[in-house]
Amino acid sequence: MTMLASETWGPHSWEETFGTTAPTRLLDNWPQRTRLAVLLTFDTQGDIDAARPNYQTTMRRDGSINYVDQMERQYEIKAGLKRILRILGEYGVKATFPTCGSTADWYPDVIRAIPEAGHELAVHSYAHWPMHQMDEAALREEVDRATAAIERVSGERPRGWRSPQYTTTGPTLDALIEAGYQWDASYPNDDLPFWIERPNGRILALPSCMDDSNMYLMPVSSYTTHAGGNFYASPQHVLNSWRCEFDVLYKESADEPRICSITMHPRVSGRPFRSWALEHFIQHALAHPGVWFATCGELAALCV
Ligand SMILES: [Zn+2]
Repeated sequence: MTMLASETWGPHSWEETFGTTAPTRLLDNWPQRTRLAVLLTFDTQGDIDAARPNYQTTMRRDGSINYVDQMERQYEIKAGLKRILRILGEYGVKATFPTCGSTADWYPDVIRAIPEAGHELAVHSYAHWPMHQMDEAALREEVDRATAAIERVSGERPRGWRSPQYTTTGPTLDALIEAGYQWDASYPNDDLPFWIERPNGRILALPSCMDDSNMYLMPVSSYTTHAGGNFYASPQHVLNSWRCEFDVLYKESADEPRICSITMHPRVSGRPFRSWALEHFIQHALAHPGVWFATCGELAALCV
């Protein structure tokens, strides 16, 4: 049987796909009296996926729009994001919101509330299409459109990126470096950040893990197993997993700085019953001395 090149994987495949890696200066620059950085990220896309034919659950098999799914996604814009911002504000913690450019174009006032509340606005592509399905010209256009849309709404050029569904590719990184991006938070393959060296420059890889969408909504699969995938898990189940992640990293942080990265979506964790888990996780983290709720940009600034 002939195997396609894309179906093989070996010890050098990661580097061949993404680039060579190099350590950062994070440990040298780590702030005193800080042990553990908690990185809360909220991927914000709203209902834009419903504009895309055959995307996961947004369309029925006959090609018609699945309005229930579309409305569940719209909940993010109408209510979920507001609840997340309220909870973060109540505890005075900062977070990062990788946001789709088209979501910012559709709902500029809703998205503008994110930087106005002091959080970091980053970029989550323009239309939430998988980057690995685009040729180089298309993904350059995607990066440029997304960057311009987020800049329009915030007034600041974004420096951070997360690919839709973690679909970063080598050519995506080249386009991001060209567009002036400093970091890409799409990497569940290490505890600490690392540089990815490309022919046209380098970009910082930040850890992304414990994804609420996988943990709450998806059946166990090859991807979701590491993140505790469980079909319609309860908030107690997910909170317990997040706490376990935190507790182990906090213990290890006595010897070396650690980062506890929790990836969420306002449409998922912004539902009232699931916001309970987020609030209790924040309370748990704040009860520990030396915990710092950092934005991705703040963390990236320590890595240079
Ligand atoms: Zn996404």
